[in-house]
Amino acid sequence: MFQKVHLRLTLLCTGITAVIMIIMSLCYLYVSESGLHRNQFQAFRNDINTISTNLEHQTVISMEWLSKMEAQGNYLFFVLDNGTPFLFNQLNNPDENAMRERLLAESRDAFLNQSDTETSVQTSNPDNVFSDLTHSEYEFISPSMGTRYFAGNITMGNEGSLLEIIVLSSLLNLENQIQEQRLRFLMIDMAAVVLLGIFSWFFTGWLLKPIIDNQKKQALFIASASHELRTPLSVILSAAECCKTAPPERRENFLKTITLEGMRVSSLVSDMLTLSQSDTHRFTVQKKPVELDTLLMNSYEAFVPLAQDKSISLSVELPEDALPPCNADPERISQVISILLHNAVSYTPNHGRIALSLTMHRDKFRISVTDNGIGISDEDKKKIFDRFYRAEKSRSAKEHFGLGLSIAYEIVKAHGGSITVTDAKDGGSCFTVVL
Ligand code: ADP
Repeated sequence: MFQKVHLRLTLLCTGITAVIMIIMSLCYLYVSESGLHRNQFQAFRNDINTISTNLEHQTVISMEWLSKMEAQGNYLFFVLDNGTPFLFNQLNNPDENAMRERLLAESRDAFLNQSDTETSVQTSNPDNVFSDLTHSEYEFISPSMGTRYFAGNITMGNEGSLLEIIVLSSLLNLENQIQEQRLRFLMIDMAAVVLLGIFSWFFTGWLLKPIIDNQKKQALFIASASHELRTPLSVILSAAECCKTAPPERRENFLKTITLEGMRVSSLVSDMLTLSQSDTHRFTVQKKPVELDTLLMNSYEAFVPLAQDKSISLSVELPEDALPPCNADPERISQVISILLHNAVSYTPNHGRIALSLTMHRDKFRISVTDNGIGISDEDKKKIFDRFYRAEKSRSAKEHFGLGLSIAYEIVKAHGGSITVTDAKDGGSCFTVVL
């Protein structure tokens, strides 16, 4: 299921980012291409202006001047006298001649049909044989060549005769430049989409990891809970079944078993509810100023009988000076101390020792429960706060489900404190809660 979600999220992430990137690239290309086009047209206009100014100060238009201009600016020049092309345009190559004639005709057509030409009137020079010099620039597509051209039309009138100079500049170079730029962008965009895909795959995987881990934990929790519930429930069912046929004097025993197992189920269900509340953040901690020494004394007194049953010496050590109150939930902290003391009594053999102590160091309260019991291996120390985890040695204990320390951990965490375990000096374990 998560594999599919992972793939979909990757596609979604890549798709959205790629679309945004492509739109931005297209916008950039549009701005850049229009800028290039505008600049080129402006440069062409400036050239036509210069040519017109040159022409204005010349009395004769020589063929050398035209050839020089053509070679310099990559331009095509056509000179027409009263609409008739000059000799300058008649080249030896008939194909090129035909091409030039076609271009001339097309540019003149475009000039006549063009609405957005830029026309400038140059002041007439009285010394010049030509007067009323005007020039216009426009753009057209040559149908025969399939290429765009900038065209400049310079007209000069003189006593009934009209001299026209048409200057054409092919946009082939600009178009090639634009094509190259588009290709470059296409390749960059394609590479970026691939990189985005790879990045999205890892990024969404990283995002999904806590959800997948959580789902695995939930599944494990349900499996462990079902496993733990199955044993007492099957005992209850079989005891109930036996009750039906058992002689009255033996029924009492079966009923006792049913009650004991029922209590186990009830305690397990209440532990699971506490943990589930913690997972769904419904775990409330009502903090108020608490005198931890009194709280410890109460817990100590509650466990004295249990310790005595196993001839364990239970001691409590409190600071001599009165401590300031600690801001905590007294019910929950009592629950933590009970879990630790209950474990200490359970995992300490008869005639052992358990010490409960409270100290304060730099605004921090430190509650420790130390025993000289079976101890916890380093391997188990990492896992004992996990749900349903029980070290191999304690698996047989019926009243232990492996949830006590995980509940203690959640309570301490909700208080912003910490709970740790270390080896006690004389064997056994030492649990420390810092608040
Ligand atoms: P349980 O209900 O099994 O005690 P806990 O979560 O309280 O569950 O403890 C988890 C495991 O940690 C226990 O099964 C036991 O193996 C180990 N453990 C806890 N406290 C002690 C202790 N004082 N001494 C030795 N082992 C302990």
